[in-house]
Amino acid sequence: MRLLEDQHVHTYYSPCARKEDAKGQPVASPERYIERAVALGLKTLIFTDHFVEDPSAPEMIVQFYKGSGPAILRDLRTELNRLEVPDDLALYIGCETETLAPGRPAISRALAEKLALVLVPTTHYHLAGVPQPLSFSPQDVADHMLMMLESVVRLGWVDAIAHPFDERESLVGDLRRIYEAMDKRHLEEVLGLAAEKGVALEVNGSAINSPARPHYPEMFLPVVQQAKALGVRFTFGSDAHTLGMLGTSPENEAWFAQAGLEAADFLTTREFLAKKGLL
Ligand SMILES: [Zn+2]
Ligand SMILES: [Zn+2]
Repeated sequence: MRLLEDQHVHTYYSPCARKEDAKGQPVASPERYIERAVALGLKTLIFTDHFVEDPSAPEMIVQFYKGSGPAILRDLRTELNRLEVPDDLALYIGCETETLAPGRPAISRALAEKLALVLVPTTHYHLAGVPQPLSFSPQDVADHMLMMLESVVRLGWVDAIAHPFDERESLVGDLRRIYEAMDKRHLEEVLGLAAEKGVALEVNGSAINSPARPHYPEMFLPVVQQAKALGVRFTFGSDAHTLGMLGTSPENEAWFAQAGLEAADFLTTREFLAKKGLL
């Protein structure tokens, strides 16, 4: 199953998406993504650059986000307004924010409600300054991952959790060991809470394909199956940082089939807009 919406795309307004091609031209420009989306037959893109509402706040100690404030949303919107967009391609602006402390995303509810999609990651352990587990033992990582996930799901107003339980295995170790160490009753409670609160889980195309987390597809599969059985809905995003990553890959499609995911399990962007009164 191919999906025609890509709900997690980084442009060059993200500090980690500034690659250039052989001619020195940026490869993650909105303009080039539009061309690529048309070539792939995609119908919807949501640009979700890394974003924090107040990069100058005293608790905002993650250096990575110092240039990721409101100006990037404004500039991206202005840039999109100047571009020619084919009628059958819909473009929206969302963001991937950060979780600064348990239950504290780096975006306010008021602003989150104005954006098409707010993805909230809770496991960016590679960034110094984001909440960290006590140690990188499987038990400590498993406990921390569940605690952080629950704290954000409980808020109820975030749209989706970005790449749940994902982190590079050179940092956190084998993700299968982390899943084994997870308190399964707690996991079930948190997934049930996500269903009840209407907080989606992201199926992240890059995480499923990434050689840096070889066991993520295996680890995340039973989580998704259990979540689906409990009534959780999903978003799909490639997490593209360059053109070549846009859309669903053949590996992603094979994984959807294995997980038993169907198109109806994924929230469309129009469903988010309708829910938020943005249509
Ligand atoms: Zn992320
Ligand atoms: Zn991302």
